[in-house]
Amino acid sequence: MQHPENDEAYKGLTVNKGIDQPTTVNPYLKLRKKTKRRQFTVDEYVDGIVKGDVTVLSQAVTLVESLRPEHQALAQEVIEKCLPYSGNSLRVGISGVPGAGKSTSIDAFGLHVLSEYGGKLAVLAIDPSSERSKGSILGDKTRMEKLSVHPDAFIRPSPAAGSLGGVARKTRETIILCEAAGFDKIFVETVGVGQSETAVHSMVDFFLLIQLAGTGDELQGIKRGIMEMADGIVINKADGNNIEKAKLAASHFRNALHLFPAPESGWTPQVLTYSGFYNLGIKEIWDMVYKYVDFVKTNGYFNYRRNEQAKYWMYETINEHLRDSFYNNPVISSLIPGTEQEVLGGRTTSFTAARKLLDTYFKECLIAQKE
Ligand code: GDP
Repeated sequence: MQHPENDEAYKGLTVNKGIDQPTTVNPYLKLRKKTKRRQFTVDEYVDGIVKGDVTVLSQAVTLVESLRPEHQALAQEVIEKCLPYSGNSLRVGISGVPGAGKSTSIDAFGLHVLSEYGGKLAVLAIDPSSERSKGSILGDKTRMEKLSVHPDAFIRPSPAAGSLGGVARKTRETIILCEAAGFDKIFVETVGVGQSETAVHSMVDFFLLIQLAGTGDELQGIKRGIMEMADGIVINKADGNNIEKAKLAASHFRNALHLFPAPESGWTPQVLTYSGFYNLGIKEIWDMVYKYVDFVKTNGYFNYRRNEQAKYWMYETINEHLRDSFYNNPVISSLIPGTEQEVLGGRTTSFTAARKLLDTYFKECLIAQKE
């Protein structure tokens, strides 16, 4: 049979004359006055946020995410002033591997809690691995179709890629701003593949782990540490002919949980099955979450955990700043490659090398102080 590309009539390789392309520059742009958006003052930010103005809130979050020192300083002042208005919310961490159905579920969860309990919901995310930042991965609006157009929902993707500590801190600060803006329900989403769970766990009241029924060996795939953090494990996609498998997986998880030491909260983690896509079992999940909240508010664990988290974040922030200050010090960063080679070549021990660098750093700090 003749290949179509060998036919005389085939035009695939002929170049058409083409038409003039319009300029890619908007011709009306010149007509617009060059007005740079005026930077709000701290009080303007705080007023706007406390009034629940989502535009101001978004801009304040952008400030929190900015790497520029002057933005950082402004952001810290805004956060500080918002602090008295914050704290009055339910913070839920939602984790699961890619494909577990987080976006689908958050859409369904969000609609459920808003219709059942009222209030306002903010969905934030922590995804330090994401180079595809700027809204294209977690928290992406198109992935939460219904929630993204809900008037009482605010969806914000993960801050751009960076160190986990940095990304997590920004999300935690964003929680404070959202709460001050009247968001009384906060979901923090994360990809269930590693360290980011610990970060999320350290800023939420309830940690929900989304799992899938698999081949029966699903328990091997998830790290013990992550399971231990969960206050609830929910098996998604319990629909169609997957229902029995999901139930079986649930009983495996229940058995596995028995092997762990009892959680500090005194709460026994629950395992449920549901379908985010078909909206089945969603109510039961949120009944569980609210039952947990009642339970830990009564026994005092709720406040205890929040205090512990505040303490944790103080130390995390100190550690992060010390590390940054050390590694960004020009003298240190110029010494590091050579020192590393000395350690690799066995000419010095790791300990001595570290000591030397630290001593140099402290001396540098003293010099900087005197100047
Ligand atoms: P994420 O990567 O964890 O955010 O997962 P998504 O929400 O994007 O879902 C991944 C895939 O699973 C999509 O094709 C969804 O349509 C599908 N999915 C999500 N929830 C369910 C469910 O409850 N049942 C079924 N059958 N499919 C689902």
